[in-house]
Amino acid sequence: MTTAEIKALDAEYVMQTYGRFDVAIDRGEGARLYSPEGREYIDFTSGIGVSSIGYGNKKWAEAIYNQALRLGHVSNLFYTEPYARLAEVLTRRSGMKNVFFANAGGEANEGLIKLARKYSRDKYGEGRSTILTLRQSFHGRTVTTLAATGQEQFHRHFFPFTEGFRHVPPNDIKALENALDAGAVKAASVDGTSALKPEAVPGDVCAVIVELIQGEGGVLPLDPEYVNAAHKLCRERDVLFLVDEVQTGIGRTGKMFAYQNYGILPDAVTFAKGIAGGLPMGGVLASEKCAAVLGAGDHATTFGGNPIAATAALEVMNQLSDGVLDEVAEKGAYMKKTIAGWSLPAVGEIRGMGLMLGASVAGAAQPKDLAKRCIADGLLILTAGSDALRMLPPLTITYGEIDAGLAILKGVLEQA
Ligand SMILES: *Cc1c(COP(=O)(O)O)cnc(C)c1O
Repeated sequence: MTTAEIKALDAEYVMQTYGRFDVAIDRGEGARLYSPEGREYIDFTSGIGVSSIGYGNKKWAEAIYNQALRLGHVSNLFYTEPYARLAEVLTRRSGMKNVFFANAGGEANEGLIKLARKYSRDKYGEGRSTILTLRQSFHGRTVTTLAATGQEQFHRHFFPFTEGFRHVPPNDIKALENALDAGAVKAASVDGTSALKPEAVPGDVCAVIVELIQGEGGVLPLDPEYVNAAHKLCRERDVLFLVDEVQTGIGRTGKMFAYQNYGILPDAVTFAKGIAGGLPMGGVLASEKCAAVLGAGDHATTFGGNPIAATAALEVMNQLSDGVLDEVAEKGAYMKKTIAGWSLPAVGEIRGMGLMLGASVAGAAQPKDLAKRCIADGLLILTAGSDALRMLPPLTITYGEIDAGLAILKGVLEQA
């Protein structure tokens, strides 16, 4: 089919929920994508951080093919080898204790929220169910993860939301402490008829969820001092410190998980986007402290850890060796340095870590317009927040592909 034919079908039969770019993609090779007409694009998007080991990856495709012939799906009522093996690899490389497999980021965060509330309820009873999240955060599109998301623009049409979320400004440790203690005052004022034991209950907050680099919010990294202080405040109050690594995880920042750049071990983390290299998968990794919170019957999902997705993820984990992750960090540093070196007035701050980068756009130019111009010139690129171009290339992108993409970006920014 031609691009025009695909677009016509889409317009007729698809709910028009996406503001799509005017491009259809038919196939890919490495970090290059091709339209049905054969137009080539350098890809700085990796399907929003998903196609972590590039396109046309033969070993990945063969692993999926062989697993599909052997066994496609049997449900979580039975044991399967790819599931168990992937769990072992993920816990080893994360320092966590065990894992629950889901199918996407939003669903993984739903599991994380359930885990946090049950941890607290098991230990302290009712009334300690509030979860703090950060402004500019993004945690998903389900009704509950939208409530967790600290951006008003997502909250317009879908009231009422799940209760029990409060948003605090990022990188403001005093605001976090106040939010933890505001709840404590409230809890202490509850009378003795409640199941609450105020003296034992440090506030109404059970958990804090953060993205260490806010992706959709604009590629906004949290300060290491803030992260360490927040982690400590939470530990002192037995409030779970939870990290949404749906975008930052699985090698994106040059470590398997972004928290490994910050020298902390969270109580639990979620992952999704990049884990299976293009197949849908997500999950929750729990530390020792949270490993037994969710027991039989507490949580489930039909497809989670499906043998084909798990096999694809095992191949991704296999290809993302520590050496490859070091290269991710080097490539990211190279891209940052190159863009800064242009000293163009259209570029403000260059943010991010590894191959999760944002360049804020200075002056009158709009990120969305610049992205469209890059695409017209052969570079697929994303935007984030209100001010930034966002770059999430496949982690296996070559320096040749990086240079080809950056040359297009430079051309566009020079005209901005
Ligand atoms: C993309 C994203 C999500 C949502 O993931 P889906 O797979 O779209 O449900 C949640 N959190 C973060 C940080 C994300 O980047």
